[in-house]
Amino acid sequence: MESALTARDRVGVQDFVLLENFTSEAAFIENLRKRFKENLIYTYIGSVLVSVNPYKELEIYSKQNMERYRGVSFYEVSPHLYAIADNSYRSLRTERKDQCILISGESGAGKTEATKKILQYYAVTCPASQQVETVKDRLLQSNPVLEAFGNAKTLRNDNSSRFGKYMDVQFDYRGAPVGGHILNYLLEKSRVVHQNHGERNFHIFYQLLEGGEEDLLRRLGLEKSPQQYHYLVKGHCARVSSINDKNDWKVVRRALSIITFRVNDLLSIVASVLHLGNVQFAADEQGNAQVTTENQIKYLARLLAVEGSVLRDALIHKKIIAKGEELISPLNLEQAAYARDALAKAIYGRTFSWLVNKVNKSLAYKFPGWRSTTVLGLLDIYGFEVFQHNSFEQFCINYCNEKLQQLFIELTLKSEQEEYESEGIAWEPVQYFNNKIICDLVEEKFKGIISILDEECLRPGDATDTTFLEKLEETVKNHPHFLTHKLADQKTRKSLGREEFRLLHYAGEVTYSVAGKCVPRSLLHLLPFELKQLHYIAKTNLATQFKNSLSKLMEILMSKEPSYIRCIKPNDAKQADRFDEVLIRHQVKYLGLMENLRVRRAGFAYRRKYEVFLQRYKSLCPETWPTWDGRPHDGVAVLVKHLGYKQEEYKMGRTKIFIRFPKTLFATEDALEV
Ligand code: ATP
Ligand code: MG
Repeated sequence: MESALTARDRVGVQDFVLLENFTSEAAFIENLRKRFKENLIYTYIGSVLVSVNPYKELEIYSKQNMERYRGVSFYEVSPHLYAIADNSYRSLRTERKDQCILISGESGAGKTEATKKILQYYAVTCPASQQVETVKDRLLQSNPVLEAFGNAKTLRNDNSSRFGKYMDVQFDYRGAPVGGHILNYLLEKSRVVHQNHGERNFHIFYQLLEGGEEDLLRRLGLEKSPQQYHYLVKGHCARVSSINDKNDWKVVRRALSIITFRVNDLLSIVASVLHLGNVQFAADEQGNAQVTTENQIKYLARLLAVEGSVLRDALIHKKIIAKGEELISPLNLEQAAYARDALAKAIYGRTFSWLVNKVNKSLAYKFPGWRSTTVLGLLDIYGFEVFQHNSFEQFCINYCNEKLQQLFIELTLKSEQEEYESEGIAWEPVQYFNNKIICDLVEEKFKGIISILDEECLRPGDATDTTFLEKLEETVKNHPHFLTHKLADQKTRKSLGREEFRLLHYAGEVTYSVAGKCVPRSLLHLLPFELKQLHYIAKTNLATQFKNSLSKLMEILMSKEPSYIRCIKPNDAKQADRFDEVLIRHQVKYLGLMENLRVRRAGFAYRRKYEVFLQRYKSLCPETWPTWDGRPHDGVAVLVKHLGYKQEEYKMGRTKIFIRFPKTLFATEDALEV
């Protein structure tokens, strides 16, 4: 038999806290590598789960395995998503405190798979009734629909989520899921009109063309081949070997009909986007754009229920208001194409929000006020993005990651230190980089990047991308995390274009192009009625809307007890059994894992308020059972003495007991069950 020591040599430790050389990044990565080689893709840092995408099916998600994790203490079984899911669920049940599970990592790291597996875990293990079965079904059915409209094949991931998602699951007093709610963030709308080489548009277009019945396609005026549509050919890869659009269509079609009665209307709008992409223009003698594709206008008018002439005119003119008067002026070719694409993006974006609304209606808890519910939230949102060319979308995504990192710092690193201090427990400070300075740079009122962008976009007259950049340079010129061509020294200047700015994020440098940041708000009056209603016609620009929705998200997360799953992508080739060390080291850094480990290792594994602790374990000691009349602090002191806790195993703070090792707590939990 293999000795414990050699086993550890081979498979590494299942909690990084147990690493001897816990400050060494090399030791950290070596531990990940050993485990990955043995198909052990999950490892803890205390209660944080680190997950490495195996890129192959592992037999660890069976119902039997789910049962193994049900109601079992965290450290008694090998690390798993299910342990995190079960642990959050139990805290929700026993302490009635709302929970959230934050899943982060870069594209292709396995966030969405993890989210789905957690939902499946709850669907299988939570109590059920007739009503609950439909809720469970709807929770699971919402996935294929949102993925069809919000996911796409990218170079990094064949099923990449191009939107951020926060999903609340509501549980009733029996712990059964009874409802849900989804918040969506920042759909990558530019994909509707353009895809990079080797990438696709959103799945739904290909599913509809591949799987749609002939009648349906005829009604929508669509031909079966994606090659016919400008918006589908930019990436030159309509077919993907890992995707079966025809089969997926069946699943999505069924799921859609569970969620809404308006499937036909919805598909009309999807089709209208494809037709819009095929609208072409030619210049007349004055250089003004004219529509040359009457057929498309005809279909569009029917599908969107607008007058053809109104649509045609709107695509080739702009309205400006000068001195209180409304003037109509013609567009040139380039402007008309821009307007067409802007309309397509707006239609698709709003359709997506409309769909999320429908999903939410179908998930809404039907018995409000009947009994109070507790909530468990799942956040699946894309990680840091750094491309050759980074636009407004990357700016928002990376800003979001700064905020999440800050939340992580607040909730774990900082609050951990502060808690020890406030509890009067000795603590050696851990150095960490607080990225608040970068968040402020982006979001501060009046002088943050978003404020300036807002001001420029809403300024009447001739605000352009360049005036935005100039304003930015003026306002934030001396910031250590901000740079432009003009502000850079000679050497750095070469790497910066004149229409770019660079931010030094906590995870590294990213250079953003300012082109297209000021988006005109035209054409929106053409949207179908319901889509128009959905969003107020914006008084603030997109960045501000995003900032506001992020701050709401942060509030939601702050009010809950968080658990973390940190996903890592092992290689760029989407292949099994390949561990690319350089790539992984980057992610360990971006995810702040070493810092996380240092804090965990310095601290205590477990802490609870005296009242809560006493309530849970008072039956284990004759002096505290059935009630303890003195101070909870003293009751706990008596209790742990009776249980034989050794001095080095715990500390008594002002309001809480701190337990250093998980095993101490296991023993106490086990005693409860005897
Ligand atoms: P994005 O940010 O692009 O949405 P993501 O982090 O959500 O990326 P996923 O879509 O969850 O990434 O995973 C990418 C692919 O990796 C999956 O389609 C699947 O093939 C594989 N994968 C991820 N997790 C697992 C797992 N636990 N077991 C097997 N394969 C997995
Ligand atoms: Mg995803």
